[in-house]
Amino acid sequence: MIGLISATAAGTAARDRLAAAWPDRTRVYEGPVREAVERAFEECEQLVCFLATGAVVRLVAPLLAGKAVDPGVVCVDEAQQHAVALLGGHGGGANALARAVSDALPGCRPVVTTATDAAGIPGLDTLGWPVEGAVAAVTRAILDGDPVALHADAQWPLPALPPNIRSAATDPAPGPGSGTSGDVPPPPRAERPTPVATVAGPGSDAPGAADGLAAASAPAVDTTGPADTTSAAVTAVTADTTVVADTAAARATGAAPASRTADATSTAVLWVTDRTVPLGERAAVLRPASLAVGVGASRGVGAEEVLELIREALAEAGLSARSVAELATADAKADEAGLVEAAQRLGVPLRTYAADALSAVDVPNPSGAPLAAIGTPSVAEAAALLAAGQGAELLVPKRKSTPENRPAMATAAVARRRPRGRLAVVGLGPGARDLLTPRAREELRRASTVVGLDQYVDQIRDLLRPGTRVLESGLGAEEERAGTAVAEARAGRAVALIGSGDAGVYAMASPALAEASDDIDVVGVPGVTAALAAAAILGAPLGHDHVSISLSDLHTPWEVIERRVRAAAEADIVVTFYNPRSRGRDWQLPKALGILAEHRAPATPVGIVRNASRADESSRLTTLAELDPATVDMMTVVVVGNTSAREVAGRMVTPRGYRWQT
Ligand code: SAH
Repeated sequence: MIGLISATAAGTAARDRLAAAWPDRTRVYEGPVREAVERAFEECEQLVCFLATGAVVRLVAPLLAGKAVDPGVVCVDEAQQHAVALLGGHGGGANALARAVSDALPGCRPVVTTATDAAGIPGLDTLGWPVEGAVAAVTRAILDGDPVALHADAQWPLPALPPNIRSAATDPAPGPGSGTSGDVPPPPRAERPTPVATVAGPGSDAPGAADGLAAASAPAVDTTGPADTTSAAVTAVTADTTVVADTAAARATGAAPASRTADATSTAVLWVTDRTVPLGERAAVLRPASLAVGVGASRGVGAEEVLELIREALAEAGLSARSVAELATADAKADEAGLVEAAQRLGVPLRTYAADALSAVDVPNPSGAPLAAIGTPSVAEAAALLAAGQGAELLVPKRKSTPENRPAMATAAVARRRPRGRLAVVGLGPGARDLLTPRAREELRRASTVVGLDQYVDQIRDLLRPGTRVLESGLGAEEERAGTAVAEARAGRAVALIGSGDAGVYAMASPALAEASDDIDVVGVPGVTAALAAAAILGAPLGHDHVSISLSDLHTPWEVIERRVRAAAEADIVVTFYNPRSRGRDWQLPKALGILAEHRAPATPVGIVRNASRADESSRLTTLAELDPATVDMMTVVVVGNTSAREVAGRMVTPRGYRWQT
């Protein structure tokens, strides 16, 4: 809930505006300001105060309890020009709230002073994964440009990290199928023309320097040698306690040798691992959501017994509970209160599987009891493996709880997911920055690698995080771009494949997805395609059935194109021609217009839009009879009306056919 507090008439008007915009998320606190702030601070996750920052600082100062628990606080000034994220920028969500408030109040701008946000660097606590250890010290080092040694078990699809975070070593694979770069086929670049690789951001000229995490290209440091595993056990941070790492157990799961330290040159260390690792004074660890815990239970099992079993299983294997992404069990146990509560207390979902799905999984320790009870020889191991998905690795085989003086009621097993790369296919819109969707912008910042045509990269280069790898190539290299994007994602990276307009319209989405296998996650972000951008400029030409036809016969035989033009002509459908005419391809447009003219009057309106939404945008309305093909080029779309399309007050209108209009 967001608490709203105001004092003045102007503040109260703005407050009411916000309350009306977000009726379910806000609560208005009336009465004397001090008490209102105190109550809201106590009751809400976030506050928006329509008060001066100074006043709010004084009011909340005595209430502050700590970064992890204080609400996020945003102040809005009397003229509503600024929404200031005052407190709890990341943890309290105040930075995001300041932006949302600005969107809701016209003319208002967010003021965000958190260093990582201002520098365009992803805060360690904004990556969606738990982070532990010396977060502030490591963040400081990142911001100061100090070397930060990165130890990642695998290539995780994280956003671009700044160039001073360098992969310190390619850690040994924690086990087969664990998804380190070694077991993913490297991008088959040798067979493709190499795209130009650059790294976005000031002061960086080293391609690959910020290659996401633990890049395939990172020099492999030999960590398999005789590590000093006899040294004293060291303190390691796990989920809820500080424990002493058992080096033998750590070895069993491939955990780092206890004596492992960062590069000699590095002062700060960032781990990305689900293992318990030694954390020095300047070390932080990001916990990927990599573990699935399968649980079996007898009816009436207590949550504490389940949780204790999970704690033991993880601790002995040297794994962190903060990397547990879900609990998994059989459908028959979906309502088992002890399991439901255990999942709740771990803060993860409880996923359930049908008995026949569980029985189909090959497990090391099948048994007769669950087979008799619910029809599968394995619950814990099978559910863990199913939940962890393709390429999962069983790290902890089935074990039973060990309650005192009574039979065990729970079993658990732990599986590790193979990291999945992420391919976002992002439409950039026709050109204007304000026609780039917020979601596209987010995806560009979410990526560590951007693949695209050089001129499209230019369109958005300033939006990329410092350290983003940019793989750009020229016109004609479509196949290579599609292959590169997919290979980069298969190597575990977060990739954005960009295209102008909508990336799925005569663009890269289909060649890329035709190559993509199901071992990567794919996200599509729609963009404003040229036909829509042009239509909005022309008026309402697409008010009834319409079709887009590309006149490029590079990839499609002309006979096919002609057949489609003829079909559209006969069906009286509005047609938008993409790729209408180039220097070497000039007869297709007149030919296509001729086919349409066989079924439409010479006076049929035709709209021509060049460079829609770009600096040199131009548009013209003409007719089928009068169109001069010389005015059309590859930066243009041509929209031909149907038989009922008309010019009204200089605009092109295709009637929708409402009865009240006839
Ligand atoms: N994916 C793009 C289309 C790529 S095909 C989209 O969804 O818009 C390239 C053709 O699109 C160009 O030859 C031109 O016909 C059209 N086009 C792309 N952007 C345009 C713009 N801003 N103005 C006019 N036409 C455009």
